This record gives sequence, structure tokens and C-alpha cells, in this order.
Amino acid sequence: PPSRLAVIGLGKMGLPMAKRLLGAGFAVAAYDPVAASRDAFAAAGGRSCGSAAEAAGEADAVITMLPDGTIVKRVVLEDDAPVLEAMRRGSVLIEMSSSEPLTTRLLGERLAEAGIGLVDAPVSGGVRKAEAGTLSIMVGGEPRTAKRVRPVLEAMGSALFDTGPLGSAHAMKALNNYVSAAGLIAACEAVQIGAAFGLDQNVMVDILNVSTGRNNTTENKLKAYMISEAYNSGFGLALMAKDIGIAVDLAEALRRPAPLSHHVVALAREALTMLGAQADHTEIDRYLKRLAEE
Ligand code: NAD
Repeated sequence: PPSRLAVIGLGKMGLPMAKRLLGAGFAVAAYDPVAASRDAFAAAGGRSCGSAAEAAGEADAVITMLPDGTIVKRVVLEDDAPVLEAMRRGSVLIEMSSSEPLTTRLLGERLAEAGIGLVDAPVSGGVRKAEAGTLSIMVGGEPRTAKRVRPVLEAMGSALFDTGPLGSAHAMKALNNYVSAAGLIAACEAVQIGAAFGLDQNVMVDILNVSTGRNNTTENKLKAYMISEAYNSGFGLALMAKDIGIAVDLAEALRRPAPLSHHVVALAREALTMLGAQADHTEIDRYLKRLAEE
């Protein structure tokens, strides 16, 4: 099993995940273009590097936790000093971003030519579960490669699922987030309609949570982020819109009509335009409220 690791991308998820790996005793080198993130990693005892290639150079396994698959492809294959050239033969890339499954398959072919393995291992659970090491992790790829990196994944997640061949975990992740986003929008709409009718929002949430309308948004988000107007879940609206887009693209590639998915992606993209690139995904609630004011 790998003992020397590299983490590329120390964002809201990558930093706490890298800290979990340090805590589990792995030697971890990491890179992020944001200096404050590199400093936070170094302060936690990690080896902070000046480039992705430098971090990847000595690693048995390289973890990517970047915004999307296009950026992963750029960092691994296309940059001036691409990670692929730095990686050792026989090492493995663990692609934990929520990326496009078809891009992942292409990446796998390029890495295989260089004698490097690839698994797609996207996560669900958000920043708090990343900190606690209790993420759900979906794993796609060659069973032997997936088995080899399992101890690494177990340091970050408490529920691991083999989803099948390369790309299957990225497909599963996008479909999960599509379902989650559809449920989120429905829950926000319902609470806003109910409030306009005179229902108490907190009572509505309590009832939803013991009724058939219960979902992750009613259980974990409505009170904490929307009704409180804190809107600080740590998962960006841009990332949510990207994930729904991946699900829609997958449906189109497979010639599935999936009519609701087109509405959900359009709403997420309109909200992103209105609220800006830095908005939290829970702020889609604010977007829906503004629609009511128009
Ligand atoms: P983030 O935007 O906080 O972090 C991304 C990091 O990548 C940033 O620190 C950025 O500086 C870095 N980065 C960008 N370009 C880079 C490059 N060329 N080289 C090296 N680093 C680069 O995003 P996040 O919330 O940590 O999410 C990461 C991935 O995990 C996304 O695919 C997201 O969809 C997924 N995800 C997020 C959550 C969540 O709750 N935040 C939950 C599950 C999955």
C-alpha cells in the first residue's frame, strides 16, 4: 500500500482531507496555488510544495481534489510541468474531485500508457465530514488498484463503495448531486410557499423531517443555513451547478430525456449568474426569494 502521498488542491475539502492523512501517519506533500492554504497545511505538519509536480514527484499515490475534471486534466497532462511527468511508474492517481466521467476515462488511458494507475474516488458529506474523516467515498477503477489505495481512502472516509469500472464513481457522484440539488430546490420552494401562506418555517421543517418529504436539505440545511440566513455550508453554488451539468451531459450522451434535470441545471445556472461565483449553494434559497419579489 502507498505510504508517501501527494495532495493537489487544498481547498475547503482538500485541506481537511490532507490533514486526516497526516493524522493517520502518511507522509504527505501538497500543493495549492493559494499561499494561505499551503501555510495552513504546513502548520498542520505537512510538506508544502511550490508546484503540483514537486508534490507528486516522490509519491506512491497522488490525490487530486480540484474544482472539476477539466482543471484536473490541465494539471495532470497539460501544464508546463504536468503532474504525469513527475509521477513514478507504478504509482496511482486517486481522483477525488467531482469530475466528468468521460474525461476521467480519457485521463485513465493517458495514465495507463505511462504505467500509472487511476481510480476515481469522489466524496460526499461536505466539509464537516471531511474534517471528521467520515466521508462517503465512491470508488471506480481496476479492482486491484482500488484495493491498493483502500487504506488511504479509509483515513478519509467511513463508507466506501466500489461502483465498478473507471468513471463509474464520477457518474454516481454527479447523479447523487443532481438528486440532492433537485431536493434542495423543492424544499426551499415549499418552505417559501408555506411561509407566504402563514405557516411557521421551523415547524414546517420539523414536520417535513418526520414525513415523506424528508431529505438532506430538510434535515441538515434549512434551519442551519437558509432560515438562519447564514448561507455558509462550505459547498459552492458554482460546484453544485457544475455537478448537475455533468449529470445532464451524461443523460444527453446516453440519449435519456431526463426532463427535470434540464430545469434544475437552468435554475442553478441562473442563480449563479445572479449571486456570483463565490455564492454558497444554499444561497439558491435567496435566488428563489428574489424571483418572488420580481
Ligand atoms: P474549493 O474551490 O474550495 O477548492 C479547490 C481548490 O483547488 C482551491 O484551493 C484552488 O486554489 C485549487 N486549485 C484550483 N486550480 C488549481 C490548480 N491548477 N492547481 C492546484 N490547485 C488548484 O473546492 P472544494 O469545495 O474543496 O471542492 C473540491 C472538489 O470536491 C470539487 O470537485 C467539489 O465539487 C467536490 N466536493 C465538494 C464538497 C463540499 O462540500 N465543498 C463536497 C463533496 C465534493
